[in-house]
Amino acid sequence: MSLDGGYDDGNIFAKIVRGEIPCVRVWEDEQVLVFMDVFPQSKGHTLVISKTSKARNLLDAEAKTLGRMIGAVQKTARAVKAALNPDGLMVSQFNGAPAGQTVFHLHFHIIPRWDNVPLGRHGEGMADMEDLKALAAQIAARLEA
Ligand code: 5GP
Repeated sequence: MSLDGGYDDGNIFAKIVRGEIPCVRVWEDEQVLVFMDVFPQSKGHTLVISKTSKARNLLDAEAKTLGRMIGAVQKTARAVKAALNPDGLMVSQFNGAPAGQTVFHLHFHIIPRWDNVPLGRHGEGMADMEDLKALAAQIAARLEA
């Protein structure tokens, strides 16, 4: 999908927001949902999505939505650092298929990095659900108010 076009209510993250398919949740409020990526590029790869916006990408999004989301990204990134003690932390966000976007519902990736551990391939290799639940609990336990 290019940068142009409409929002598809059938996308996988829209289904997660509606509760039609499960996710391993870290935390949520009225505006955002934070959950574990099932094809993680590193241990603790977390996604932050809007629960209210129909933006497909950064260019579509309302400034207010972006403000709420980036605050949620920072809050989550701090908890990931506290829980997993990474050496680095990557925040990424893709716009359009040629840029690497595969789910067309605005989201940010939080990807912890460790020295000498290569980044996994994007969208490949499904995680073990029990591992993801344990990581989500570890991260959630380190959230600050
Ligand atoms: P994008 O490629 O659009 O930036 O990121 C989409 C992300 O969603 C990918 O990292 C992919 O691993 C993840 N993903 C795809 N399907 C699912 C799913 O059903 N559940 C979860 N939790 N993550 C998914």
